[in-house]
Amino acid sequence: MALTVEQVESRLSSVRCAICKTSGFTIDRRTMQADGDWKGACLKCRYSFPVYTDMEFYLRTQPDVPYRLKEITCPACEHRDVGLDFRIVMSVREAIYFVTCKACGHKFPEQSSLEAFE
Ligand SMILES: [Zn+2]
Ligand SMILES: [Zn+2]
Repeated sequence: MALTVEQVESRLSSVRCAICKTSGFTIDRRTMQADGDWKGACLKCRYSFPVYTDMEFYLRTQPDVPYRLKEITCPACEHRDVGLDFRIVMSVREAIYFVTCKACGHKFPEQSSLEAFE
């Protein structure tokens, strides 16, 4: 199930820009690579950051991540275990997973603590 650019853009509005703290982003269509690496940009300050959409590849190369996903609690239904839709690296200290609750389908962003160890 591939994500559309529009879906990714609307999900990005749930996080804030690392620089200006606003929540409007766009995906630069010209930077979209076939391997799923995109670039997001803040509408206000033009700050840009990588967006990774090939999660199948990511999960294959990061064997710890599936275990971490099972520990994430849904804020809507408090069920644990989510699916990873895509991820972004907002700044050197801030990587964010965009996940979907497997129980109720609620979509939310989750700060990734794993990235600190990569
Ligand atoms: Zn900004
Ligand atoms: Zn849920």
